[in-house]
Amino acid sequence: MVLIMDIKAEANNLGFSLAGITSPETPDHFSVFESWLAAGRNGSMAYLSRADTLAKRENPRLLMPGTNSILCLAYPYPNAARQMKASTDKLLGMVASYARLKDYHKWLPKLIDDLIHCLEARLGYSIAYHAFTDSAPILERDLAWRAGLGWIGKNGCLIHPDAGSCFFLAEVLLELDLPQDKPYPADHCGSCTRCLDACPTQCILPDRTIDARRCISYLTIEHKGDIPRELRGSMDNWVFGCDVCQSVCPWNGRLLARDYPDVTAESEALLAQPDLIAELKLSEIVFKEKYDQYPLSRARREGDLRNVAIVLGNTKSDVAITALAESMTCDPAPVVRAACAWALGNIGGKKAGGVLHSQLDLEADEIVREEIQLALSRC
Ligand code: SF4
Ligand code: SF4
Repeated sequence: MVLIMDIKAEANNLGFSLAGITSPETPDHFSVFESWLAAGRNGSMAYLSRADTLAKRENPRLLMPGTNSILCLAYPYPNAARQMKASTDKLLGMVASYARLKDYHKWLPKLIDDLIHCLEARLGYSIAYHAFTDSAPILERDLAWRAGLGWIGKNGCLIHPDAGSCFFLAEVLLELDLPQDKPYPADHCGSCTRCLDACPTQCILPDRTIDARRCISYLTIEHKGDIPRELRGSMDNWVFGCDVCQSVCPWNGRLLARDYPDVTAESEALLAQPDLIAELKLSEIVFKEKYDQYPLSRARREGDLRNVAIVLGNTKSDVAITALAESMTCDPAPVVRAACAWALGNIGGKKAGGVLHSQLDLEADEIVREEIQLALSRC
């Protein structure tokens, strides 16, 4: 027991807000995940339903034979609600809070190694372990709940009354046999429905899962190709991810003033609210240089610029027309050109219509042409 208290205290010293131990048995809500897949709610994330990854989610021991315990950890990132800034001279986008920090896959594993080395120093011998930070097929929220870290809220996030839900989850599979924590005993959502009411695409389901096919986080990050037309308007100004269901959650409200580790002025300035018109001009090389260390690189240039074009369309601002017209005629990626055409149609008016009209005969890609024609019908 003393050892467990030492691990948790050391985790806290290293910046982790929550820590708990569970077993490597099948996660309690594995069948909910199976039903979610069966309903096709994973969208184009086919890797989630592959037999080998499914088997690992069901049996975490397949990730590391000999696993006796799983240490679940939560590491905080700053709450979304702080980042809204008014600007009168620029059109600005929004980036999900977690993505404003350097990619956690690059720095969180080192902190976990430090924690395990402390544990080994206490024990006096080395232990076999394998750490994951959203980097393996593992039902992390389910295991974190069972390790006592919090309850799974109606928005599908793991929530703790003192830590909210804005944290990265990590799991350490250990060969060590440790006493397990009890599952989190309560559900503090009660009669609250704020996240359900606020979700722009109404994709939060009654079984506390999300229909990824309609979720802005999925659409702007994981989804490749065109974003379904009926959902583009709901993106509002979200360029990468979406924090709405976490921002409105009362359990996150109290954490605004907290000091978070590893938030640098540099990343705040770089990613808090991208200047949309400048972003639309990023070349492949500049995109790579700018986002190499950041989660935004996951969307790749064409995904990022597709999102930027849609968000510019959502602003309905004439100021965006010149930049959108230039990208619609010159961008090498059809998905970006198509998004620019949609955006021009959404802004509408004579000027946007003129640009669309003159590009119709010059565009060779069938999908982009179709988008231009549809856009023209709205001008
Ligand atoms: S991330 Fe946004 S779109 Fe997705 S469930 Fe939450 S509020 Fe809805
Ligand atoms: S907003 Fe309300 S219902 Fe949604 S997760 Fe938070 S407490 Fe639960």
